[in-house]
Amino acid sequence: MEVLVKEPEFVVTQDEERRILRRTSILVKDGIIEEIGDVRGPVDEVIDAHGLIAIPGLINTHSHVPMTLLRGVADDMDLFPWLREKIWPMESHLRPDHIKAGTELGVLEAVRTGTTTLFDMYFFEDTVAEVMSRLGMRGVLGEAIIDFGTPECRGGDECLSLADGFVRRWRGHPLIEPGYGPHAPYTVSPERMKEVAERAREFGAVIQIHLAETEREVREIEKEHGIGPIELAHASGVLGDRTVAAHVVWPSGREIALLRETSTLVSHNPVSNLKLASGIAPVPDMVGSDVRVSLGTDGPASNNALDMFETMKITALIHKAAKEDPKVMPAQTVLDMATRIPGDFLSPRWRIGRICRGYRGDLILLDVRLPWWTPLHSVVSHLVYSARSTDVRYVLIDGEIILKDGRFMRGKEERILKGAERASLDLLERSGVESLLKGVD
Ligand SMILES: [Zn+2]
Repeated sequence: MEVLVKEPEFVVTQDEERRILRRTSILVKDGIIEEIGDVRGPVDEVIDAHGLIAIPGLINTHSHVPMTLLRGVADDMDLFPWLREKIWPMESHLRPDHIKAGTELGVLEAVRTGTTTLFDMYFFEDTVAEVMSRLGMRGVLGEAIIDFGTPECRGGDECLSLADGFVRRWRGHPLIEPGYGPHAPYTVSPERMKEVAERAREFGAVIQIHLAETEREVREIEKEHGIGPIELAHASGVLGDRTVAAHVVWPSGREIALLRETSTLVSHNPVSNLKLASGIAPVPDMVGSDVRVSLGTDGPASNNALDMFETMKITALIHKAAKEDPKVMPAQTVLDMATRIPGDFLSPRWRIGRICRGYRGDLILLDVRLPWWTPLHSVVSHLVYSARSTDVRYVLIDGEIILKDGRFMRGKEERILKGAERASLDLLERSGVESLLKGVD
């Protein structure tokens, strides 16, 4: 299968020199970017990219995709009551058919907003993997491990062996990278984290974990263990160049050094951190210390979207305000965090995050014939400060056209939306949470 992206207005390559090419065609063949330049000869499919720009597909490094079903059911609450009174009781009623409906909705949303790789940590990851691979989404998936159990397993031991099975089943799949999702140091004991780290090393699998999300978590872990959550994760062998640490809002200086030394990938989730008032992560300090920092949305219950364009803009803005310095977090740095940095993390398994010869055909095309793109003085600045996720017209993943001129190619949108609506209402009913629309005519 060959796809020719014919003469987009610009190609934002995100290569070593961050070259931006004007009216240069891209040939994707059998999933790989084969040629960038003047392509001649017949091809299977031509995308007329006049009025569009091409950029690498965005990589969302932290989410709980099926939580699309919980979108908007509990907003404006503190984190711990939010988890204990709303999220956890509802999650306890989750079944695979809910996960299926929620993942379909999440993938549809991610594709329409320009994401080509979704990291996910949740329950029933077999179902998540099945849906993502069927809909053409690239997924880095961590089966959740929690000491007191999940909707899928009764305790840490069972969760761990479930995760082992998940990793064994999906290893080597062209679109799925299966791994482990130990929830956090306050829900997974150091002994269990050690076991997870050993298994993950054995399989070369990715670990996804929440670390230092709130100040309270840090205080409680310090009280119990005498060290912070990131140090504790390190002492348990969890940090490393195959590990994603989500949030990292409250790291100590020593912990920032540990993240750098171990080449751990941090996933910065500014929208979730702002919405749950967790704080503002010291991202400029981490970036300045050569920590690998990428971007994520977190689950749609705490965001409430899976929108990486919004995430890029907010990342650029909050750190400027927090540091009272507009030079902090320039647009190019932020675009790197959503493309090349997580792309490099996944190399050599997949070469993604750049439009370069030999890289996988994961790229998106945005319409720039719009008022908020005009005049087009700086493509990278516009991508971060002006672009809207709804400007995305085409999405290619592994060389397949998944979104074609705004149309989702892997399923009927209306069926996905209706299915998710039904699954969400069913979940509300099962968990005894009153419909929020009660009293609304
Ligand atoms: Zn999370």
